[in-house]
Amino acid sequence: MRWDNLQIATAEAAGGALPLALPGAVTRTFTTPGFRGVTCYEIHAKSLLSKVPAASQVPFRWTVNPYRGCTHACTYCFARNTHTYLDLDSGHDFDSRIIVKVNAADVLRRELGARSWQGEAVALGTNTDPYQRAEGRYRLTRGILTVLRDYANPFSILTKGTLILRDLDLLSDAAQSSWVSVSLSIGFTDQLLWRQVEPGTPSPQARLGVCRTLVDAGIGCGVLMAPVLPFLTDSDEALEATVAAIADAGASSVTPLVLHLRPGAREWYLGWLRGSRPELVPRYERLYSRGAYAPKEYTGAVTAKVAQLAAMYGIGARRPAQHRMPPPPAQTPPAIHEGQLSLLPNSGDLL
Ligand code: SF4
Repeated sequence: MRWDNLQIATAEAAGGALPLALPGAVTRTFTTPGFRGVTCYEIHAKSLLSKVPAASQVPFRWTVNPYRGCTHACTYCFARNTHTYLDLDSGHDFDSRIIVKVNAADVLRRELGARSWQGEAVALGTNTDPYQRAEGRYRLTRGILTVLRDYANPFSILTKGTLILRDLDLLSDAAQSSWVSVSLSIGFTDQLLWRQVEPGTPSPQARLGVCRTLVDAGIGCGVLMAPVLPFLTDSDEALEATVAAIADAGASSVTPLVLHLRPGAREWYLGWLRGSRPELVPRYERLYSRGAYAPKEYTGAVTAKVAQLAAMYGIGARRPAQHRMPPPPAQTPPAIHEGQLSLLPNSGDLL
């Protein structure tokens, strides 16, 4: 591994005391422009596979997350609150203080090699993005995919990161012998809004380009249209523009998900709204007056509209050329966005 422009810093020099939950972590900062203000805490995880509680509604049972925190810095990110489990805050700390499980691939190889492992599908991207900026340096997701490929273990990935194309070779290899499912998260196509609410992510247009490349490579790609932002991206025109662009990118499916405002995300997103679109605050307060979720009538209307548009634009009507295996029994692609597993208790896989 080459480490250009890095510094191993004392915790204080890197922007504060080492979080109590990370004893012994190595703290690194980088001087390259893309990492300005970012601190990485390198830790050695004891385990990587994390089991989803049986009561959960999510369509997968096992997850792996090599990073905690996410430099993609989406204001609405559902995972923000998980940072508070580490004595870090759910706002700027979540965006800039990233926990990096440097031994992720080694630990996963040990876990998949255990006699007790049943070869169930593993979901990546359920908490934070496996192709966020740190992945360019640490290559942990690539290591994880290598292990999954070596064991012909089925897996799914959900990401906003264009860096996934770096691993096209591995995805193609893995799809020869197992089930591989890739989904891009693209909630809208408005450029101005993208810069405001997803400031660290590749643009929606770049993500659509990734979708097209994956489809052309025979991997196939679904799109999680998430989140749909009330009063910002939910007009008929905005929904149609997004679905049309997703169809044009060759996506095999589109699944809308309306914004959730759970603790952590709620304060951060509404803080942005107050500063940028204050006229919308009363409408949000009414829509989310009963908690983290918009009313069923609202979410149902958005889902129905997107389904209608998807049919109109032929999404799902054409089967993409693909060489991935069919999903194993009882496994379906994840219809969930990264961060939604923040509904779950801390998996305890960190230390
Ligand atoms: S929503 Fe996804 S990409 Fe955005 S900050 Fe959260 S984990 Fe990262």
